[in-house]
Amino acid sequence: MTSNPQWIICEHCDSVYSPVPLGQGEIARCVRCAAILERGGQMSIQQLLALSIGAALLFVLANAFPVITISLKGLSNQATLWQSVQALAQGDISPIAAVAGLTIILAPMLQIALLCWLLSYALVGRAAPGFKACMRALEHLRPWSMLEVCLLGILVAIVKLAGMLDVHPGLGLWALAMLTVLIILISGKGIRRLWKDLEGVIP
Ligand SMILES: [Zn+2]
Repeated sequence: MTSNPQWIICEHCDSVYSPVPLGQGEIARCVRCAAILERGGQMSIQQLLALSIGAALLFVLANAFPVITISLKGLSNQATLWQSVQALAQGDISPIAAVAGLTIILAPMLQIALLCWLLSYALVGRAAPGFKACMRALEHLRPWSMLEVCLLGILVAIVKLAGMLDVHPGLGLWALAMLTVLIILISGKGIRRLWKDLEGVIP
């Protein structure tokens, strides 16, 4: 058997294909299970880096501003992501606070930091120090970053509470929604191309 580092392996059924050049908007699908193998016209390193910096700014906004404001009979209260994690830590279910802190603050923060680190070096055609460890860390972090679950939870809470109280989504929630989309866009297949792009320079 010969081996070819360029082969594409279907993530769903392990079929092996030799790559074909794809044009803008073209998609390569697995013949056996129809899963998407590759998309043509991927984002450039500059675009990925710009989106990562955007994600970092949105992350700061999502954490600095309240995600939800609740008012009742003239009294008003608002909470940021960090305040909601702190509130969880005080109750009977305090271990949940650690999980919440990890999945909605720590994991996304590390993801964004690693993306900016890797991409700023890739922009000048170099592999960042610790390239392999950082790329693997990104893959391991992905299942732990649960911003979309958090977002869904807040939206359900807003809809449920709306009948009883005066509930308003805060600026932090809008930032969180945009951040969720950005992280899904960048951290998935987009970033894996670095393995191929930097093939000759990875130590
Ligand atoms: Zn397949």
